[in-house]
Amino acid sequence: MAQSAALLTRLLAYSVTAAKRAGKIIRDIMSQGDLNIVDKGKNDLQTEADRSAQRCIVTSLTKQFSDVTIIGEEESSSCEVPTDWVVTEMDQEVLSINLPTNLENVNASDLCVWVDPLDGTSEYTQGLVEHVTVLIGVAFKDRAIAGVIHQPYFRNSESNSWGRTIWGIDGVGVKGFQPISPIDGERIITTTRSHWDSTVQGALDALEPTNILRVGGAGYKVVLLLEGKAHAYVFASKGCRRWDTCAPEAVLHAVGGTLTDIHGERYSYNSKTSYPNKGGVLATAPGQIHQWYLARIPSEIKQRLI
Ligand code: AMP
Ligand code: MG
Ligand code: MG
Repeated sequence: MAQSAALLTRLLAYSVTAAKRAGKIIRDIMSQGDLNIVDKGKNDLQTEADRSAQRCIVTSLTKQFSDVTIIGEEESSSCEVPTDWVVTEMDQEVLSINLPTNLENVNASDLCVWVDPLDGTSEYTQGLVEHVTVLIGVAFKDRAIAGVIHQPYFRNSESNSWGRTIWGIDGVGVKGFQPISPIDGERIITTTRSHWDSTVQGALDALEPTNILRVGGAGYKVVLLLEGKAHAYVFASKGCRRWDTCAPEAVLHAVGGTLTDIHGERYSYNSKTSYPNKGGVLATAPGQIHQWYLARIPSEIKQRLI
């Protein structure tokens, strides 16, 4: 059954187990206490956990899907990967789903996997570990169509264990969590904690939020939308890149939410596309009128994000 499953099903089934394994690596490195932090640019940190989690995910997926393009945030490394970092099992729940007919027989050459092995690195280094997610997004041609958002530090009180994995496929829906609608009568907006500037502020001011939730990571902000804790995620900045938004966009779309740039255009995620999300990020929870948010962002701000 498992080997005969469709390519996209198998790819997502391995992505779920790889994201969970990467989450364990992230927890282990934090508890060992040596993050070995490097600044890749201005306010763009990388730790041992980012590097190791990427090696786990990319090696695991490349081993199974050598003909699928996999693009990870971190530079690849020629170091040997410990064998217990390479996953060989597929997630059984993913294997049990039925794909929509348009995704049943896709070619490997039309798929591209975008990996953010640790989203929310600044917050991770500051001990705000609940903001951290592992993101694996799958694009078919231009579109983000499937994604995994794993939260390594989500506490499961019933089973007394760590980690929650939310995954979704366009036309199938989302598993691992039952989305909740945000309450009416408020406009709670989530945005960056660590990449703030006057343009980010200008867009928020124009939307007149009733509350602002400044948290780390694109993955965690989309989780807040799924949990009904925020109505929109607004980031009028060129700072995010495709690996930040591919999985969150796919998961959000699978439940009827929307993620675009601040001009209302969806990003392209094919393997040849450029990485920066130059038009910023506007994501809205299911039931929100995306167009309303787009129309409220001043054109003067939009002009800065072309
Ligand atoms: P934030 O909302 O600031 O946590 O950003 C979401 C994701 O985009 C994180 O992975 C950040 O590292 C990345 N990001 C956002 N802005 C920047 C920036 N100016 N430079 C580097 N990475 C950024
Ligand atoms: Mg990121
Ligand atoms: Mg990252």
